[in-house]
This record gives sequence, C-alpha cells and structure tokens, in this order.
Amino acid sequence: MHTVSLRAECDLAIVGGGILGLATAREMLLRRPGAVVVVLERERELARHQTGRNSGVIHAGIYYAPGSLKARLCVDGARGLYAYCEEHGVRVEKRGKLIVARDESELPRLDELERRGRANEVPGLRRVDADGLREIEPHARGAAALHSPETGVVDFAEVARSFAADFQAAGGHIELGHRATVAEVRGRARFAVFCAGSAADTLAVEAGADPDPRIVPFRGAYLKLRPEKSELVRGLIYPVPDPDLPFLGVHISRHIDGNISLGPSALLAPNRLVRSLAWPGTWRMARRWWRTGITEIVHAVSARRFAREAADYVPELDPGDFTPWYAGVRAQAVARDGRLVDDFVISETERALHVRNAPSPAATSSLALARLIADRVERSLD
Ligand SMILES: Cc1cc2nc3c(=O)[nH]c(=O)nc-3n(C[C@H](O)[C@H](O)[C@H](O)COP(=O)(O)OP(=O)(O)OC[C@H]3O[C@@H](n4cnc5c(N)ncnc54)[C@H](O)[C@@H]3O)c2cc1C
Repeated sequence: MHTVSLRAECDLAIVGGGILGLATAREMLLRRPGAVVVVLERERELARHQTGRNSGVIHAGIYYAPGSLKARLCVDGARGLYAYCEEHGVRVEKRGKLIVARDESELPRLDELERRGRANEVPGLRRVDADGLREIEPHARGAAALHSPETGVVDFAEVARSFAADFQAAGGHIELGHRATVAEVRGRARFAVFCAGSAADTLAVEAGADPDPRIVPFRGAYLKLRPEKSELVRGLIYPVPDPDLPFLGVHISRHIDGNISLGPSALLAPNRLVRSLAWPGTWRMARRWWRTGITEIVHAVSARRFAREAADYVPELDPGDFTPWYAGVRAQAVARDGRLVDDFVISETERALHVRNAPSPAATSSLALARLIADRVERSLD
C-alpha cells in the first residue's frame, strides 16, 4: 500500500477508516482530482469497528422522521449503494423485510411507521395481513406487517474496502496504525474531517467543540441460528420498534453469507462504562428507559430470554437453536438532558468538520452522507 504520512503537507486529512471516512475520502478525490487527501486509521486494518460489526442491512428509509437527514440520506443512500454495488461487483441481495405487529395492540405503531415510510417515499412499501405475511415468510406469525421489498443485505466492510480501493486508485493515501490527534492534524492539513465513530466526541472536544452530546457506546450482541434451521427464515423479520428510541429492535436476519442472526441486544459497553456513567445524560436516559422498559437491555442480560422472544415471530424457533455470535458497539450520541440524539449530526470547529452522531442507517447512507460532508468541506475550503 502506498503511504504518505502527515509529515508531508496535505489538503485534507480524514480521521477514521470506517465506511464514512472512506466514502468521504473517495467523494473528495472524485471532486478534486490531484488534491492531497490522507485517511488516518488507528487500527491495522480498515472497517474494524461499527462498519465491520453490524446487521448488514441496507435500510429502505421507513423509520425516520420525515424531513430528517436520516430519512433523506437513507433513501438516497440506499439507491446509490445498490447502483454502486452493481457497478463494482459487490454482492448484495434484496431479500425484503417484514416489520411484524404481533397483535392488535401494535397496530397503531405500525400505522405510524407506514405513514413515515410513505412520507419518506420508500419504494414498494405495502401493508400485508396475517395471510399476506405468511406468503412472504411462511414460518412467521403476526396480526399484520409492513413489507419493504427494497430492503437488502450486504457486507459493509466489503463496501468500505471497495471505497478505499477507489480512493487509492484516484491517488489517495491511507495510513493504517496511525492514531491521529487534533493538534497533529491541525499542524499538517489545511482541513480535516473526523469520522471517528465512538471517539467522535473526544476528538471534537479536543478541537474546542461543546462536550454535548457525548457518545455513549452500546454493545449489541448477536446470536446465530443453527444452519439446519435456516430454512425457517427467508429474509429479514423485524419487530415494531418503540418510536421514541433510535434502535430498531431485535431482529431476525438472513445475512449475505446465508447465516441467520438474532440481535442486536443493547447494553452500555463495559470498557467505557465509567466514562458513560460520568455523563449526566446517561443517568437521565436510563431513568426514562426503565419506564418504557427497553427490551434490548433485558435481552443483553439474558440470551435465553432474547432467543425465546424470537418464537413470538417464528414459533418453530427454539432458544436451543441459537449460539452466541459476534458483537458490535454502536456509537450513539446522548445529549446532556438524556435524549438519545436521533438524527445524524455534523458540526464544525476551526478548519474541521466532525461527524458527531452517525448510527444506523449511516452505513446505508454512506454515499449520500459523503456528498453532504463534501459539500460542506468544499464550502469551507473555498
Ligand atoms: C450492532 C450494529 C448494527 C448496525 N446495523 C446497521 C445496519 O444494518 N445498517 C446500517 O446502515 N447501519 C447499521 N449500523 C450502523 C453502522 O454500522 C454505522 O453507522 C457506520 O458503520 C458508521 O461508520 P463510521 O465510519 O462512522 O464508524 P466506524 O466504522 O466505527 O469507524 C470509525 C473509525 O475511526 C477510527 N478512529 C477513531 N479514533 C481515531 C483516531 N484518533 N485516529 C485514527 N482513527 C481513529 C476507528 O478505529 C474506526 O475504524 C449498525 C451498527 C452497529 C454497531
């Protein structure tokens, strides 16, 4: 790999070799061929964190508040990502998704999701009844469902590596094993973009930004279904989520490699627990959650209970069919007042942009988010 360090002057430094940093780096060089752009990644390989440890779902844009960045960039981003993958030979499958209301009590929330999906112009979205949902997923049960045929699966780490290859082919430089600091980047680059996932807040504060919001990392663990049972699930089966939470709920997913997962749970990441608990927003958030009774936390504590609830959606699934699989840590911003920041947030400091909140569906939205970030970088550079 061709490496040029920040010891040389550069026009733009991008901190973070996840899907967002790489999509942004690629976009900037497509716009400004000949510019000196460097990606700095502290790990020895790309896409080690959120980008390599997620559900792998190309979301269609159903859940997000109409008019929000998430709504707009998810729909645009998914469209762009399918086209990109087709053009670059990255494997994707549009397996479709069902959001299942287990009983009548969940129908009002399903109605609200349908309203949002239509407002966001999600392609192909339709409502199905109990029989209709069994035509799509013969082993699933429920009172009604929303069917999104355009929801698909991909390996986002593979997408990120493909963005990196485009970037390098256009003359970009990637330095692995390089933990960047704000002082170093400021000293040597004209402008910087921080796409640092769970380190986003620390680096932004180092650059003089407000400490609010803080990243509170949530560990999301997945269970894997025994391959002998894999014919029970064709695509993606999701619950109706709590509309007040940015998490989509524990889902059953057929991945691009054919494995079926159940997850993710949500538990405050143990390695950053002390730091998370020092943030007043964490306590305010927790107080609110105990009232709404967030099930992902219960699931994180009891894998068996977690697996048992899968049978609410697919009765033939048994807790004994699942074994522990991988886990990913979500970099979720939490405001001082305890609010989980819902939308994507990008803020500015001196000669830098900071991605302060880019949870799901940021991988789906990566090409569209990169365009938005690049517009802002160009405005600042000019
Ligand atoms: C459990 C889980 C499930 C998800 N499911 C989906 C899904 O199905 N669909 C979807 O669209 N999205 C999903 N997401 C969200 C998606 O994975 C993220 O939004 C996306 O990967 C964010 O990309 P990123 O580049 O910002 O972050 P990351 O991939 O976390 O990359 C940040 C990088 O910055 C590097 N870094 C940090 N500090 C420094 C430093 N000082 N110097 C150099 N490098 C540094 C880190 O090493 C890391 O590689 C999920 C996330 C999780 C965790």
